[in-house]
Amino acid sequence: MAQLSSLLKYVDVLDSGAVLLGRVYEVDGFGKRLVRVITHAHYDHIVGLNESIIHASAIVATQATIDLLLELGYVRGKYRTIFKNKAVPLPYNRDVEFMNERIRLVPSRHIIGACQVLVETNNYRIGYTGDFKLGDGTEIMSDLDVLVIESTYGDPRYRRPFKDDIEELFVDQVLDLLRRGPVIIYGYHGKLQEAMRILRKYGITEPFIMPERIYRVTRIAEKHGYNIGEYYSLRTNKGYMIKNSGRYIMFQHMSRAKYRRLNGEQYHIILSGWEFNDPIKKLDPYSWLVALSDHADFDELVEYVEQAKPRLVVVEAGRQGEPYKLAAELRRKGFRTIVLPGPRVVDEMFE
Ligand SMILES: [Zn+2]
Repeated sequence: MAQLSSLLKYVDVLDSGAVLLGRVYEVDGFGKRLVRVITHAHYDHIVGLNESIIHASAIVATQATIDLLLELGYVRGKYRTIFKNKAVPLPYNRDVEFMNERIRLVPSRHIIGACQVLVETNNYRIGYTGDFKLGDGTEIMSDLDVLVIESTYGDPRYRRPFKDDIEELFVDQVLDLLRRGPVIIYGYHGKLQEAMRILRKYGITEPFIMPERIYRVTRIAEKHGYNIGEYYSLRTNKGYMIKNSGRYIMFQHMSRAKYRRLNGEQYHIILSGWEFNDPIKKLDPYSWLVALSDHADFDELVEYVEQAKPRLVVVEAGRQGEPYKLAAELRRKGFRTIVLPGPRVVDEMFE
C-alpha cells in the first residue's frame, strides 16, 4: 500500500478555494491546470473562472451548470465565446480522460446541475464533494484514497434536528399563508427552484410568478428534469394578469427581501440555511423565515465520511466554513484528516 504522503502529491487546496486533483484538474478555482472543473453555478465556486477560460484547455461541468453560468451572466464579454468553445458538458457518471487521468461527475443534491468530482490517477481514487446535502440525488463516493469534503456547516452548533421534516413544514406554512393572501418567497438562484419543486411535489397548484431572470433560471431547471409547470414571467401579460388576480405564489431574489412591504397585502417567506433552532421563525406579522438549506449540516458532513470510509480526509478550508471543528470530530472518530490549505503532513502524524 502506498504511503499516504505520496497521495498528497495529487491533492491540494489553494487559498483562493481552488481544489487541485491529480495533475490535470483544478476544481472551483484557478490553479494553472490543464482542465477547469466547475461543480455548480454558485458564486464562491466560480472564482478565477476568467483566468481558467484563458489558461485551461477545457472546462468541464454538467450541461445544466454551463447553461446556468451563461444565463446568470457569470461569463461576460470576450470570455463568453472562449468559454463556449472550451466547455465540455459531461453527463453524470460518465468517465472521460485527459492526459491519462480519468474524471467523472457524480450526482449531488445542492442546486440544479451540481456535481461531485471523482478523479482516478496512478491507481488512486480521489473525490471532492463540492457543496452537497445528503438524501435523494447525492451518491456517496466509495473506495476513495482521498475524500475532499466541504465544511460550510462543519461546527457541531450547526445541526438541524428538524431537517427531515422541513419540506412538509415549509409546504404547510405556504398553504396556511395562501388562505390569507398571496405569498412571496425569497431565496437565491437554485434554492428558489428547489422550493418550487417541493411545492409542486406536495400538490400545490397555485400559479408561480417571478421576474424574468428567475423565470429563465427556472426554465433551465425544467429542461434538466425539474417538474414545475404553471410558472410565468412578470414581464408577460399572463404573469401580469395573475399578479392582478391576487392568487399566486411569487418568487423573488433574496436581495429583495429587505424591501418587502409589511402592509398585509402579501405574506413573505424567506428561505435561509442559517437557522438551526426553529424550522420556522416568525420575523414580523407578515414574514416568516424557513430553514430550508441546500447544504449538509454538521451531522450530514460526518455521516458522509462515515459511509464513504476514505483512507484520508481533506477538509476544504478554501472558502467560508468551519473546517477545523469538522476535522477535529473526524479525527476523534478515527479518520486520518487534514485541513487544506494548511500543513501537508500525514504519515508523520498518523503512521
Ligand atoms: Zn453552493
